[in-house]
Amino acid sequence: MIEIQAITRVHHRGDTEVPALRGVTCSIPEGRFTFIVGPSGSGKSSLLYLIGALDQPSGGDIVVAGRSLAGMSASQRDEYRRNEVGFIFQSFNLLRNLDCVDNVLVPWLPGGVSPARRAEACQMLGRVGLTDRLSHRPGQLSGGEQQRVAIARALLKQPRLVLADEPTGELDSRTGAEIFGWLRELHRDQGTTVVVVTHDLSYIEPGDNIIRLRDGLVIDGGTEYTGGPLTADGVPATAD
Ligand code: ADP
Ligand code: MG
Repeated sequence: MIEIQAITRVHHRGDTEVPALRGVTCSIPEGRFTFIVGPSGSGKSSLLYLIGALDQPSGGDIVVAGRSLAGMSASQRDEYRRNEVGFIFQSFNLLRNLDCVDNVLVPWLPGGVSPARRAEACQMLGRVGLTDRLSHRPGQLSGGEQQRVAIARALLKQPRLVLADEPTGELDSRTGAEIFGWLRELHRDQGTTVVVVTHDLSYIEPGDNIIRLRDGLVIDGGTEYTGGPLTADGVPATAD
């Protein structure tokens, strides 16, 4: 369970304060496939980064499986981020000068990589269909292939939590569907909690949990999608 408690986040742009999150309280059940939806600028990415401890809130706290992120030391937060959370970004976030295998191994490079870990990385790349791309660099791969490398990297940790920010934002719809297929498989096989920020509501399936933000506030703290058309805001069209 991820409990988001009265989270605020004020960004600073020059002298201007930009309140990205203005007191967000909601919870994300463990093991659910959850979408965070809302208009551009509503605070979706800000919230996702806070859940992953890539950023720190201006106020409030996030409690993940009973542990307060605010209560952790910087090194405990590093460990949480490195060991427990898999990140998938819109822009893939691969290192250009590393091949696929090393890109998958990035989180482990500082501590040294055992041969067994390297073999696992190759295996994971095979699992996402990249067996014949192991020594390719990101520039030699398509967008969909790059995102699969990022997914293999996220999966190698066997994290309890995967956070994806617009993972299909730079992909065509067919490739996007394929990427969601991998996320769904991971969710099914490992029971991973998956939290996805997207503006493409077509990827939402019955049983998914939908959280809606607007202007830095929660307007729906979690509704199970039961099927049928959604409005542009992610609301079941028949609900009103
Ligand atoms: P979303 O992902 O829903 O589009 P964001 O969380 O990226 O929303 O942004 C919420 C608000 O915070 C927007 O007004 C955005 O311009 C602002 N913002 C986000 N990140 C920064 C930053 N690093 N510096 C300044 N303002 C930011
Ligand atoms: Mg965003």
